[in-house]
Amino acid sequence: MGKKKAFIRDKFDRPLKDLRISVIDKCNFRCTYCMPAEIFGEGYRFLNEDQLLSFDEIIRVATKFAKLGTEKIRLTGGEPLLRQNLDQLVKQLLQIEGIEDIALTTNGVFLPKRAKRLKDAGLKRVNISLDAIDDDVFKHINGRGVTAAPVLKGIQAAITAGLEVKVNMVVKKGLNESQILPMARHFKDKGVILRFIEFMDVGNHNGWNMDAVITKKDIVDQIDTELPLVPVEQNYFGEVASRYQYKDGVGEIGVISSVTDSFCGSCTRVRLSADGKIFTCLFAGSGHDLRVLLRDGITDEQLEEKLISIWSNRKDRYSDERAEGKVTKREKIEMSYIGG
Ligand code: SAM
Ligand code: SF4
Ligand code: SF4
Repeated sequence: MGKKKAFIRDKFDRPLKDLRISVIDKCNFRCTYCMPAEIFGEGYRFLNEDQLLSFDEIIRVATKFAKLGTEKIRLTGGEPLLRQNLDQLVKQLLQIEGIEDIALTTNGVFLPKRAKRLKDAGLKRVNISLDAIDDDVFKHINGRGVTAAPVLKGIQAAITAGLEVKVNMVVKKGLNESQILPMARHFKDKGVILRFIEFMDVGNHNGWNMDAVITKKDIVDQIDTELPLVPVEQNYFGEVASRYQYKDGVGEIGVISSVTDSFCGSCTRVRLSADGKIFTCLFAGSGHDLRVLLRDGITDEQLEEKLISIWSNRKDRYSDERAEGKVTKREKIEMSYIGG
């Protein structure tokens, strides 16, 4: 018999189901909408080794979350594959009772070298970000002059290793809307679900405004004119992407419409930053520092109480408030720090 789970609920009765762990804040890319090179330049102070949670510390926190209801874990960053031996972390996380699924979000560049070890460690799924198939557009977006080829190789390596692959494309007006159809055409018959993400107002440096959002409707209409689509049912409650299949039966896309069709009501996600802070929303301004408590010798019981208290007091519904026109300007955490 396993240990019993204590399902906890927040102020809006949302359970705690998913844990997103950012393992590092550094990245090999400088995507213009996430880590603009002019801000994340030479002088930018990233976290040092000591400030990052160790794998043991991550496991300790994840174990407690699992006891409180968490079933799924996603590893992210920065670029999570810049953290050495990530496969070891995957292996350890999978041993936690109650954890059913581990996934990874990555820009894909390091997958040719790492995909097999990750799969062998028990990783099931990987979301690979690729915002354009055209080299000039992609080079500009990633801020490092990298062509699409290394990412496509990463996608292929993940497929060959037996991982389930989804490709994520953030769409921003004036940057890459020209790529919606070329990306759809490219991935349609590759056995890979392509998911379009509306550009969000995360962080403080990406110059977001509503005019820069290419909406779910724009995206679906654009694809549908050339490659007709039919909407399909959600796979499970709380799934964030609206799903569409191509009418000819070959291929599927998803659209994550956090701006024009927000889904806070079913948001069961908690986020752990690379330096051990808990954030109850992607748009939060501050987190709850666990690292200091872990390093000061907090007991298991106290840790559990702390997590219960954080989640039970959760009232976040930023995207719904944005849709209602109620958000005011405030400092937010950066996407590259918390990992999406
Ligand atoms: N480096 C990894 C990657 O790019 O997949 C993992 C971290 S990255 C922050 C996670 C995801 O957030 C990526 O798919 C990225 O495109 C997305 N993202 C970053 N900034 C965003 C924004 N302002 N709006 C929507 N998605 C964003
Ligand atoms: Fe790096 Fe991912 Fe942000 Fe691009 S989106 S800068 S790959 S963390
Ligand atoms: Fe969840 Fe916050 Fe996003 Fe709403 S805005 S879906 S509460 S992370």
